[in-house]
Amino acid sequence: MTNPAAPDGAPGGATIGVDVGGTNVRAAKIRPDGALSGLLKVRTDSMSSIPDLVEGLVRRLLDDDVVAVGVGIPGRLDRDGRTALSAGFVNLAGVALGELLSARIARPVILDNDAHMALVAELAVGAAKTADHVVMFTVGTGIGGAVAESRRLLRGRGNAGQLGHLTVDPAGPACKCGRYGCSEVFVSGTAVNGYIADAGLPKGTTVESLLRTRDHDPAAATVLDRWAEAWRHAIDSAVAAFDPDLVVLGGGLGFAAATVLQNAAPTSPWFDCPVVAAVLGDDAGVIGAGLRAFSA
Ligand SMILES: [Zn+2]
Repeated sequence: MTNPAAPDGAPGGATIGVDVGGTNVRAAKIRPDGALSGLLKVRTDSMSSIPDLVEGLVRRLLDDDVVAVGVGIPGRLDRDGRTALSAGFVNLAGVALGELLSARIARPVILDNDAHMALVAELAVGAAKTADHVVMFTVGTGIGGAVAESRRLLRGRGNAGQLGHLTVDPAGPACKCGRYGCSEVFVSGTAVNGYIADAGLPKGTTVESLLRTRDHDPAAATVLDRWAEAWRHAIDSAVAAFDPDLVVLGGGLGFAAATVLQNAAPTSPWFDCPVVAAVLGDDAGVIGAGLRAFSA
């Protein structure tokens, strides 16, 4: 690509990072050092289509400084990373979002899985800055996953690291992937809302409030224990497969999940591994998408 801000080929200027989530689409300008500015957010379920939502946010941030755009989506991509095959809670199947957006805004666009983007950010400027081998779960409406080996993303045929679809209990509820009892149906925000309802707690109860009341509220403790137990199955399986230095929990519920896991030991000492909250929280997807875009 031609990079007007850095004629010698060094990364310069800014990119726009976009994170398409099950609840919100976020976008911000990102500098080469990961600094974020101008964060914008709209609800995914607004009346516009996802490509229109993304374009609208990008146009609000676009200026001569912007050399490329990176977009993270919550799902699988074809081998070339051009077209969404599925996107979990977001309907993007068959959409060549990168090409579509690139044609509309006249900038190169890199498309990748949102958890891959988040791990790029945590490796560069976040919780995994000094780690070599990392497993990351992003915890929101659904569960995203990404794995780094020697600080390089493990890609397989393009979609390695779908940790939301590790089996926790094959007799469990149906998952969007067509199987039953995947980690996503046991540890996502959607799953926790189900545990909250099962415990007779009011709709809208937050995990943060449960963490505050767990010592004197048995219902809160029940919800958090169910969540932690399911997490252990998912994390222990990931540690068995990848033997990482670090498991990073990101997304909107990453910090709460890491807190709950402080009191939940691995189900076997074989799978002992530090579990930490992502440093960049909900911003990791946007920052990682922006950082990836510098190589567009
Ligand atoms: Zn699944």
